[in-house]
Amino acid sequence: MPPRAYLPDLLLAAGQARAGAALVVAEGRVTAVGAAPPGADLVRLPGAAVLPALASAHSHAFQRALRGKTQLRAAGRATFWSWREAMYAVAARIGPDDLEAVAALLFLELARAGVAAVGEFHYLHRDPAGAPYADPDELAKRTVAAARAVGLRVVLLRAAYARAGAGDPPAGAQRRFADASPDDAALAVERLARAHAADPLVSFGLAPHSVRACPAEWIRALAAEAARRRLPLHLHAAEQPRELEACRAEHGATPVRLLERLGALGPRTTLVHAIHVDGEEIAAIARSGAGVCACPTTERDLGDGVVPADRLLAAGVPLALGTDSNVEVDLFAEARALEGHLRLVSGERAVLGREGEGADALALRLLDVAARGGRAALGLEGGHLAPGDPADFQVLDLADPSLVGAAEGDLATHAVFSLSRTAVRDLYVAGEPVVLGGRAARVDERAVAARGAAALARLVRDG
Ligand SMILES: [Zn+2]
Repeated sequence: MPPRAYLPDLLLAAGQARAGAALVVAEGRVTAVGAAPPGADLVRLPGAAVLPALASAHSHAFQRALRGKTQLRAAGRATFWSWREAMYAVAARIGPDDLEAVAALLFLELARAGVAAVGEFHYLHRDPAGAPYADPDELAKRTVAAARAVGLRVVLLRAAYARAGAGDPPAGAQRRFADASPDDAALAVERLARAHAADPLVSFGLAPHSVRACPAEWIRALAAEAARRRLPLHLHAAEQPRELEACRAEHGATPVRLLERLGALGPRTTLVHAIHVDGEEIAAIARSGAGVCACPTTERDLGDGVVPADRLLAAGVPLALGTDSNVEVDLFAEARALEGHLRLVSGERAVLGREGEGADALALRLLDVAARGGRAALGLEGGHLAPGDPADFQVLDLADPSLVGAAEGDLATHAVFSLSRTAVRDLYVAGEPVVLGGRAARVDERAVAARGAAALARLVRDG
């Protein structure tokens, strides 16, 4: 097959926006940026801009089922912990078919938002009674199947979960998350990797859920396993003050200091949230090469706090973004909020900007976090549309009211600070269309919506 040359009005590739340049793609990868080579299939995209596709490095697909249900004050204060009860109620009863239907709904929404890759932090393993399914990986496979049906790249971060808290066995819905030993998680990843070996768009990582849900020896064992197998290692850390108190009481250390002591901080580690961290902890994260995945929309929704992205970036910590609880699915909005939340607490603007840099630099930095940063956290290459990168890109409609006026010098700023999701026209993953003309290219959207709606209705009815 001859290479394809996509020719939009504006191309943002390799960190630079250009007018009149082509993105040349062959065998699922970018082969050149600039002039279309002779003999290439020319795909003209008038009135459009091409940007790298985005990556959501932290998602819990089933939490899509909570949408519309938790924005109220029931008894006493509404907090992360009361929200968690509502989340457990859904987690307690969702079955394989409904999980797959709800996940497909979510992945379709991610695709429509220009997201090519998702890190699914997956902790639903057992049946509602707490027994393994006939295939112990049933729910992980259903989640992967939903992502692949839509056409996304998926990295299933197989969670390990031991307990409710120090000295407390898993209770209620947590029995569905539980493993008997860290080996359960390691073996599950081996089986899953074998079962999906033929699909290059599926990969796996290990995810000791948190310092609350995993004892120290589990975290140490899984960190060693991830290092040995060169897998991404993801953990929730420093999301809520109560989590820090419990960790200090059990270990005499904060979560980040405990993880450092356990050898769990390293270049393949991603700490999800890392909100309540001090300067020494940030230095420890930076020294180790670990990254942080911020999930600003969820963190705002749950009242978690603000990720200190300014201090993390200044220390050289790589950042990623996640849609987490999926209360809202818009990675551009996550990038906007990473900066915007810091403005609210600091009273300043362009907090993540640097003095004297160009007009588009801040937005390019945020876009890099949303695209390349998320992929790096998931162990995926690319995200820049540089030659050699996977051809994961989105086509934006420059006539969308939210983008009208965008030009070479401010395209990224328009996209990061102002874009509406309606501007995302097409999405390509490994050079193949996943969204075309604002509609899914590989699944029937109405059928996905109908199956999703039926599953959501069942979850409400049975709740
Ligand atoms: Zn999470």
